[in-house]
Amino acid sequence: MLTTFSRRQFLAAATVSLAGRFASVRAQGPPATRATIDIGLINGKIHAMDAANRVVSQVLIRNGRFAAVGNNVVRREAGLRIVDLKGKTAIPGIIDAHNHIVLVGNRPGWHTPLEHVLTIPAAIAALKTRAAAVPAGAFITTVGPVAAMQFDERRLPNLTELDAVGRPVFIQAAQGGARTNSEGKAWFEARGVTVGADGAIAGPAAGLALQTLRKQLLTADTRKRGAFDALEYYTRLGITTHRDSGAFHADEPATGVASENTYTMHNPFHALHAEGRMPARLRIDFLHQDSPTADPPLPTLGPRLRNSFPRFGDDWLKTGGIGEFTGGGIEGLRAIARAGWRGEDHTLNLASATGLIANREIVNKEIPITNLRWIISHVPEFPTELADRAHALGMGVLVGWGPLRTGTNVGPPYKMLIGHGIHVGYHSDGGDITVINPWLNFYTMITGKNLAGQSILGDQMLTRQQTLWLATAANKWFIWEDDLGSIEVGNHADLAVLDRDYFSVPDEEIRQIRSLLTIVGGTVAHNENVM
Ligand SMILES: [Zn+2]
Repeated sequence: MLTTFSRRQFLAAATVSLAGRFASVRAQGPPATRATIDIGLINGKIHAMDAANRVVSQVLIRNGRFAAVGNNVVRREAGLRIVDLKGKTAIPGIIDAHNHIVLVGNRPGWHTPLEHVLTIPAAIAALKTRAAAVPAGAFITTVGPVAAMQFDERRLPNLTELDAVGRPVFIQAAQGGARTNSEGKAWFEARGVTVGADGAIAGPAAGLALQTLRKQLLTADTRKRGAFDALEYYTRLGITTHRDSGAFHADEPATGVASENTYTMHNPFHALHAEGRMPARLRIDFLHQDSPTADPPLPTLGPRLRNSFPRFGDDWLKTGGIGEFTGGGIEGLRAIARAGWRGEDHTLNLASATGLIANREIVNKEIPITNLRWIISHVPEFPTELADRAHALGMGVLVGWGPLRTGTNVGPPYKMLIGHGIHVGYHSDGGDITVINPWLNFYTMITGKNLAGQSILGDQMLTRQQTLWLATAANKWFIWEDDLGSIEVGNHADLAVLDRDYFSVPDEEIRQIRSLLTIVGGTVAHNENVM
C-alpha cells in the first residue's frame, strides 16, 4: 500500500524536478499504471450527497469503487489500509462540468495557478515554492487563473515583488493585466516585447508576450508536464472530474489566452492517459465555430460529427459532445441532433438565451433533442419562462462562473433555477477568463459576493448544501454518468477530505478550503499526511 503511494509521490516529484525527462523515466520500465488501494476511511464526517443526504463516519473502498458506506462497515483485515479521518469532513470528488483545463494544461513555461492565494505576499510565497523545483532561468508563468480582484491589495504583483521569486515570471490575469519581473523583462525586450518600468505589459504587447512564450517554450514534453500539473493542482482543491469545453482554434501559437490548436491540444492528456498517469478524470467536448454562411456548409463540424465518437473512451478520459459553441447556426444544430450528439452553447444575456432556445425549439420539431441532454451554460439572464421552455426540450443549465464578476443582480438566478425542476449543474468556466477554484466559486454562490466583497447576486444565493449538490450529484446528468458525484455503493471511489468543515466554517473561510486527501477511483491523487 505504502509503496503504491510512494510511487505516486515519486512520479509527482519527477514531474516537478525532471523537466522534459519523461522519456527516460518511461524507458526504465513498463508504463506506471495507476494502482488502486483498498482503503477503509473511519471517524469521518462523510457527506454522501446521496438521495437520503446521509452523513456517515465510514467508507470502504475496494477495487476503485465504494464497497460499503455507513457507520460500522470497516473492519481490520489483511490488505486493507485503514485511515482515521479524526473527525474531518469528506465530500464526493467535485465535478466541474465545464471549464478550460485543457487550455491550462497547454500553457507555456512552468504554469502555476494562483487561485488559492488571497494576498500578494502569499502569491509570491507560492511562486517561490514553485521556483525551488524549477531549473534556473526557466519561466514561471500564471496564464489565466489569477485576478487582481482576488488579492486583498486589489492589484497584481509588481516587478519588484516578482523579482523575489528568483526566476523569470510572467503573469497574465483572467480579467486583463500582464506583469513580469526584471529577468522576464530582459527576456521579453530581447524578443521585441515592450515592458513598462514597473513590469506591466500593456495592450497588444501582452498578447505578443504570450505568443512569444508559446513559440519558444512549448514542446510535446512541456505540454505533457503542464497537463499533469494542471490536473494534479486541482486535485488539491478536491476536483476529481473536469469536463473541458474547448478553446478557440488557432493553427499557430496564438496571442489569446483562450486560443489553442483544438486538433492537437488534447495530445498531452492522451499521452498521460496512455502512461496510466492521469491524476483526475477528463471529459472532452469539441468547440466549433463554423460560420452559418460557410460554403460548403459546416466545414469543421461536419467532419467532426462524421469521424469521431461522442462519449467514447474510458473512466479516465472520454469524449463528450459539441460545445461550448456549436457553430454553423441552425444547420449546425440540425447536424448535431441528427448525429445524436449533445450540444452546448453559452449565453451572456437575455437576447442570446432567447435566440438559443427558439432555435432549439425549431430543430426539436424536426429531429427530437429531448433525450440528448443539450446544455446552455452561464445563463446570467434566464427568466422562468425560458427555463420552462428549456425544460420542455430536455435541456439543462450550468451555473457558477461568478467570483470575478461585477455589478448588482448580475445572475445567474440560482435560487429560481434550483427550485424550478430543470436540470441544473455547476461549472466554473475557469482557466482562461475566470478561476477554476471551486471554493472561490462556491463562496460567491453562498454569500452573493465577488472576490472584491461586492454583493452581485441580489437575493439569489444558495445554501452550502445546495451549492455542493450542484457540483457533485447534480452534475451526474451533465457528464452523463451515474456512477460519479456521490458516495454510494458501486460508484467510483472519488472523494476529497477537506482541511476544514465546509458546512460550519465562517463564510470568509470557504475561499481557503482545500483538500488534504483526494482519492480518484481508489488511487491517491493528493495526500497531505492524512494517509
Ligand atoms: Zn467556457
